[in-house]
Amino acid sequence: MTLTNLDIPRTPDAWADFLQQRSDTELARVRAAIDELKDGTPRDAQAVLDLWNVTDTAWLNAQSVCWTLAEVHPDEAVRSLAETLSQEGTKVSTERGLDRDLFAVMSSVDPAGLDAVSTRLLERVLRDFRRSGVDRSDEVRERLRAISERTTVISQDFSRAIRDDVRSIKITPDRLAGLPEDYIAEHPADPDGLVTITTDYPDYIPFSTYATDAAARLALTVESLNRAWPGNDALLSELLDLRHQQATLLGYGGWPDFDAEEKMIGTGDAIATFIDRITEAADAPGRRDLDVLLKRARVDDPTIERLTRADSTFYCEVVAREDYAVDAQEVRRYFDFSKVHAGLLEVTGRIFGIDYVAVPDAATWHADVTVFDVLVDGEPRGRIFLDLHPREGKYKHAAQFDVVTGVEGVQLPEGSLVCNFPRGLMEHDDVVTLFHEFGHLVHHVLGGRQRYARFSGVATEWDFVEAPSQMLEEWAWDTDVLQSFATDADGEPIPTRLVESMREAEEFGKALFARTQMFYASVSYHFHQDRPADLTATVRELQSRYDLLAHIDGSHFQVAFGHLDGYSSAYYTYMWSLVIAKDMFSAFDRDNLWEPTVAHRYRDKVLAQGGNADAADLVADFLGRPYSFDAFGAWLSS
Ligand SMILES: [Zn+2]
Repeated sequence: MTLTNLDIPRTPDAWADFLQQRSDTELARVRAAIDELKDGTPRDAQAVLDLWNVTDTAWLNAQSVCWTLAEVHPDEAVRSLAETLSQEGTKVSTERGLDRDLFAVMSSVDPAGLDAVSTRLLERVLRDFRRSGVDRSDEVRERLRAISERTTVISQDFSRAIRDDVRSIKITPDRLAGLPEDYIAEHPADPDGLVTITTDYPDYIPFSTYATDAAARLALTVESLNRAWPGNDALLSELLDLRHQQATLLGYGGWPDFDAEEKMIGTGDAIATFIDRITEAADAPGRRDLDVLLKRARVDDPTIERLTRADSTFYCEVVAREDYAVDAQEVRRYFDFSKVHAGLLEVTGRIFGIDYVAVPDAATWHADVTVFDVLVDGEPRGRIFLDLHPREGKYKHAAQFDVVTGVEGVQLPEGSLVCNFPRGLMEHDDVVTLFHEFGHLVHHVLGGRQRYARFSGVATEWDFVEAPSQMLEEWAWDTDVLQSFATDADGEPIPTRLVESMREAEEFGKALFARTQMFYASVSYHFHQDRPADLTATVRELQSRYDLLAHIDGSHFQVAFGHLDGYSSAYYTYMWSLVIAKDMFSAFDRDNLWEPTVAHRYRDKVLAQGGNADAADLVADFLGRPYSFDAFGAWLSS
């Protein structure tokens, strides 16, 4: 049977109807399949799981278009309709998770005779039910519901307070020394003769990177760290208590154990062990980095004793400029958007054996979007939408959004890359981001031929999902690969020496950075594990233990650390997946990243498997051994 692509509208005014219909139809299918599961008909285990898969597939169908269009559709009314419809979908999912009759049906399934993937699905479904508390007493369920309602409100309040609390410093214009001319021009003095610099990123990031005035950098950093102080401190304590209650009501030792259960890392204890391990591995190389920065800082101020985060960004930039002579303006000349775009498809096409077939007449939500069908060995495997330039009302970051989740024999995967790159010359950072996000997109598509929607594409453990993307970034740093598409206006490829300098500049400070990351990860873990009474005192203590940068007196890092909401106790995940990315990359021939044999094995054993098995097992199958820390450790200390 030939699978067709999602039939999306060709005219701008048809989108609202399309969304409404897609959501209504698919959510109706979810409800119908749930009713069927509960209708008392005797079914064998496989028939039950197949029906369950219909609920998953239809729910994702309803939600995916909403999640995507809420971020990309040019019409505000369509974006807001997409948000409303996705809330409807969330309700359906919550109801499913708390449906005791449905739980009774699923928990009476006899797994004998099921194959490995089906057994895995059944286990995951029952685990989800358990984690939602469906099997607890009415009293406990009532308490869980109240906790869930209150944590939702706290989460929103906590994030909003950080967003809304824009702080500032006022300085005399001479203290803008070091900043680019356009920044200075955009920050004229007020009638009182003072310039206002706010904690918003477009103000804050250039200021902390380029301002030579250390006292002014420090003042602005303190303001930034104190956004939402003191209000968020009490909110955070309450959130930590509620999460702990939720976890213990469900029978876990604490929140980190509850949260880690679904992840590669497995337990809360393992998080603590991992943080200590990285901290140890980054100790000597991190101190080496710190010494370089401190030495350079003492050229400006011989009395300086310790560096804080008010200095580190500034001196890292100084060192990149002075010691590695990487001029961003020079680098940009080689990264014309259209050549990079073509290069990305060429590189990933060659290594993964993919043919990208342009579909110029495909319908899209905006004229900027280009569409390709993805073929492997001549067989259609899915469709990708590349939506790569900024426009009003569009998502401001870079991410991959599922449009359709692939299910074998039912529907082909479709996904969209949503980024904000310039149309002309790109920064090299943008090129790295493009490769990274494209890593998620190929994972979604190549992993999209699964029996169960639950395991399709990037539906793997959350602390593994970044690894394929982090690994694909390596191709954007390789001289040979870059020279295949990074050419200047005269067609001259980027010089080998320049790429080497770019790499050296990028590598500098990585261990120092790792230590700061472990400080953040320790706050995320220990706050949830220990729920300390004095959060600021604990931050100070953890910073002295894990970070090589010094604590700033009078600052309250935790109140504006927004990831405590979204990541909870799992801020370690970025570094965890980087360990695995470095290990997987060690299987490739660094001197020939075009070589397809290893890449094909990786494609088939890791990407194409989606979430069919534990990520640790997929990686071991690819590497021929369990994953290890060695490649990461060697990289960190090199
Ligand atoms: Zn990513």
